[in-house]
Amino acid sequence: MPKKTKKDETKELFAEFPNLYKEMSQDELDACMQYAEEYKAFLDISKTEREFVENTIEAAKELGFKDISEKKKLKAGDKVYASIKGKGLMLAVIGKKPVSEGFNILGAHVDSPRLDLKPNPVTEESEATYFKTHYYGGIKKYQWTTIPLAIHGVVYTTDGTCHKIIVGEKDEDPIFYITDLLPHLGNEQMSKKASEFIPGEDLTVVIGGMPLKDSEKEPYKAWVLKYLNDNYGLKEKDFVTGELEIVPAMKARDVGFDRAFIAAYGHDDKVCAYPAFTALFAQEKPNKTCVTMLTDKEEIGSYANSGAQSVLYENFLMEIFAKTGDGSFDLLKYRKAIEASKMLSTDVSNAFDPKYASVSDSKNTAYMSKGIKLEKYVGARGKSGTNEATGDFVAEITGIFDKNKIAWQTGELGKVDAGGGGTISAYMAKYGMNVIDAGVPVWSMHAPYEVISKADLYDTYLAYKAFIENI
Ligand code: MN
Ligand code: MN
Repeated sequence: MPKKTKKDETKELFAEFPNLYKEMSQDELDACMQYAEEYKAFLDISKTEREFVENTIEAAKELGFKDISEKKKLKAGDKVYASIKGKGLMLAVIGKKPVSEGFNILGAHVDSPRLDLKPNPVTEESEATYFKTHYYGGIKKYQWTTIPLAIHGVVYTTDGTCHKIIVGEKDEDPIFYITDLLPHLGNEQMSKKASEFIPGEDLTVVIGGMPLKDSEKEPYKAWVLKYLNDNYGLKEKDFVTGELEIVPAMKARDVGFDRAFIAAYGHDDKVCAYPAFTALFAQEKPNKTCVTMLTDKEEIGSYANSGAQSVLYENFLMEIFAKTGDGSFDLLKYRKAIEASKMLSTDVSNAFDPKYASVSDSKNTAYMSKGIKLEKYVGARGKSGTNEATGDFVAEITGIFDKNKIAWQTGELGKVDAGGGGTISAYMAKYGMNVIDAGVPVWSMHAPYEVISKADLYDTYLAYKAFIENI
């Protein structure tokens, strides 16, 4: 039997996760709002993984980061990066301690759900021209109709030239559009399941409606092909090389009279990728070597040479290991260094939404504006497919957060058997390092326009910084 105590003496035994806006000083609020402005500006020019990587490299170079291939030897304070096929990125600031003591790693992904063009995308139907698409990642297809869309990406011609295309972002640009049925004739459609009423094949994007005069073969399609040839030097066959993504044309905007939240395309996972690299950028000569990895293809399982399962990410760590030593490489010593490494898998989680309360366990979910969410494990249905952080590692992390006054909360993605999801953590844990998922809660995750709290964004930045500086 526990001894009887006065009521208030038991208070500190309870876990409490207060709303951060309740506790912020004016200075903290100002810093939080300022950081959010910088994030929004970066997000608006970084909608695709390629753009995110390109813009991060540009910002890194301004701070003195060099391509690791340019360096023969590395010493404390050196800043290096390696592009992973232009769609992923590794960045590091070399620490004072030898890397045999381990790397401190922040790992986010920079791809987001979207519509990719099919290899032979241009089609004419009933005197209009369309791009055919194949959706990428987990989407609710009906959310992509009747919203302004932009096209971002690259096409290569056989001479090796890369043709960049971004249309739909400037005020004077046209946008692109996926039609839906008018409610007057929608009876049959509206009686179908939401997963069925917009079939994947119907996610065709309107790209034109004028015929090319004197063109005998498909004149509407010919108009678009001629335009693409005049402006980008492309022919229809070149689309086979295309990495062209249809994304929402909306810019990041504040939500609410008080501007507590931000709506934007691609918070998953750029809202963690941005603090992951800005926390690294704040390092000059850290104790341990700090690394930020920005991966591609997470939304479809981290495959391909740019996904987190690719050895190219590990090659960068190997190169640092060799170049901070005498240039030789000892696999066993390297494996021991990785075993000593610690990583935050910096990915988003679901934020409790009172309208959809039934999918969440209210005692084990993240809430908006209560700070970074630590997830000991992710996965689905009996914890399948997940990494699970060891208890001692979790204690190390929460200890650092508590000591540095970083607010954190914890929970699962949703109720047991309600669904689930994965992150890159399992792929990194397999190398032997300690990994835990830690990121920003999101409303309407995977929708074309998702919502996060500025308080969580800023808290997450401070948390990532505290992690790489103190672990
Ligand atoms: Mn994610
Ligand atoms: Mn996702």
